[in-house]
Amino acid sequence: MLGKIYLVATPIGNLEDITLRAIRILKEVDIVVAEDTRQTLKLLNHLEISKPMISFHRHSKDGRIEEIIDKLKLGKNIALVSDAGTPVISDPGEEIVKRAIEENIEVVPVPGACALIAGLISSGIDAKEFTFLGFLPLNSKTRKEKLKEISTEAKTTILYEAPHKLVQTLTDLEQYTENRKIVLAREITKIHEEFIGGTASELLQKIKDPKGEFVIIIDKAENKNENIFENMTLQEHYDYYEQKRV
Ligand code: SAM
Repeated sequence: MLGKIYLVATPIGNLEDITLRAIRILKEVDIVVAEDTRQTLKLLNHLEISKPMISFHRHSKDGRIEEIIDKLKLGKNIALVSDAGTPVISDPGEEIVKRAIEENIEVVPVPGACALIAGLISSGIDAKEFTFLGFLPLNSKTRKEKLKEISTEAKTTILYEAPHKLVQTLTDLEQYTENRKIVLAREITKIHEEFIGGTASELLQKIKDPKGEFVIIIDKAENKNENIFENMTLQEHYDYYEQKRV
């Protein structure tokens, strides 16, 4: 019989943020596949669980995926965890999930903490519809394309960002989000948890030396353009978009 792969969410800070089911699954599986085995060992020690571990991170070779798939084919049950939060979300695991599905191996979600959801629900920004973009690309062309998307996005946008890149990202957002409200959800569930709101310019004044982990939640763009095209000539329409190009 084939084994199952469980995608187990782990805490994003506060170690109490793990479900009873996640703890049971971690106890029951044969192997834990972890992004950083040292990080996961801390959690397993805290839960008094001892398990064989295999590391799987963004630089792992395809051979590692096949090794994991082979173990599932041999009937081993496996829990996949990342360093924090929900695996696959801006974290490794998607390729294992795809391969498991191809091999008819059952993929079982074990949901729990996820920074984007925790940040969004506490931000006070419209949570009915949202777009999650993960980390902005570093390549300047694709980054500009994403920023342009954000500039007209009619839904809340959520980004992840590393502390040392936050000032640059806010500087870019200042150019593309005008006076839209932005909330920085910092160190969620940890001692220094805080939610800092303002426009990108205001946040740049407030945040001089960012420390810790951040989720960026950006209010939707107002649809100022509704119906403005109706009375435009084709040339005016063209000029409108030419002006918007940066
Ligand atoms: N898979 C994780 C999840 O479910 O949220 C996300 C992993 S991603 C590699 C790490 C990023 O998530 C950080 O750079 C930060 O943007 C965000 N993040 C993770 N934990 C956080 C926390 N406690 N507070 C704020 N942001 C956090």
